[in-house]
Amino acid sequence: MNTNYKHVKKSCSLLLQWGALLAIAGALLSPAGAQQAKLIKAKDGSGVVGYKDTPILPWAGYHKHDPDRPLPKEVVPGKPSAQEKVGSAPSDAIVLFDGTDTSQWQPNKWKIEDGELEATEGDIYTTQSFGDCQLHVEWQAPDPPRGPQMNRGNSGVYFMSRYEVQISDSYTEKVYPDGSAAAIYGETPPLVNATLPPGKWQTYDIIFTAPVFEDDKLVKKATVTMFHNGLLVHHNTEIHGPCAWRKIEPYTAHPARQPLRLQAHGNPVRFRNIWLRPLNPQPDKPDR
Ligand code: MG
Repeated sequence: MNTNYKHVKKSCSLLLQWGALLAIAGALLSPAGAQQAKLIKAKDGSGVVGYKDTPILPWAGYHKHDPDRPLPKEVVPGKPSAQEKVGSAPSDAIVLFDGTDTSQWQPNKWKIEDGELEATEGDIYTTQSFGDCQLHVEWQAPDPPRGPQMNRGNSGVYFMSRYEVQISDSYTEKVYPDGSAAAIYGETPPLVNATLPPGKWQTYDIIFTAPVFEDDKLVKKATVTMFHNGLLVHHNTEIHGPCAWRKIEPYTAHPARQPLRLQAHGNPVRFRNIWLRPLNPQPDKPDR
């Protein structure tokens, strides 16, 4: 055994002794609960570890740090669009328009040109019905601008066929704020005007929660949280009733799921890359 090896061995031995002393001191100084904390594995064999000797979270029904709480589902994010290059939907989305067909819509008569869907005549509705959801829509107002005031790039996204988030060319035309782009039409203007010039692709990313009715009585209003071109324009904004022009319409009870609707207002607004993620898509339960 050479001198260096002896020196290393002695150093290691000293370190181990100090380590053991520190461990004992740590155990003596730690709270009693920490000494008993024992990681255990999830029942499903996934290898997830956590604790079962912790309080139950009243809002969740699981232990704090519970290994048996379902893991979030893995989703592959889509690619964001650029002005000249259309992006893609995340892996768990329902693709409502990918540039090739309008089979998710009825009546199926808007024009497809260059992979874009152009509003022509008559509103269109999704063949599927939705409640709570995350919606991504890209749209473009006509370039050069056409039409005065409310006829300049007017379209709209109607959740449950009733509750409109406005589409409008609010870059070149000034109209009443609760009728501008990204307004909850007739109710609430956006927090900021994030509208791009006509001919530029614009994005809406919207989280919609459906109203809740008990029999015919409204017990919870619909809400919208929304980004327009990446800027927050609504933060849990309540919707006070169905879309209406120059009057206030009260809520009337309707099923928990209804089709999404895109508005034809006589203006050739274009769309691309439309996708939707139902937020609780259990077939036998309402979306919440
Ligand atoms: Mg509109």
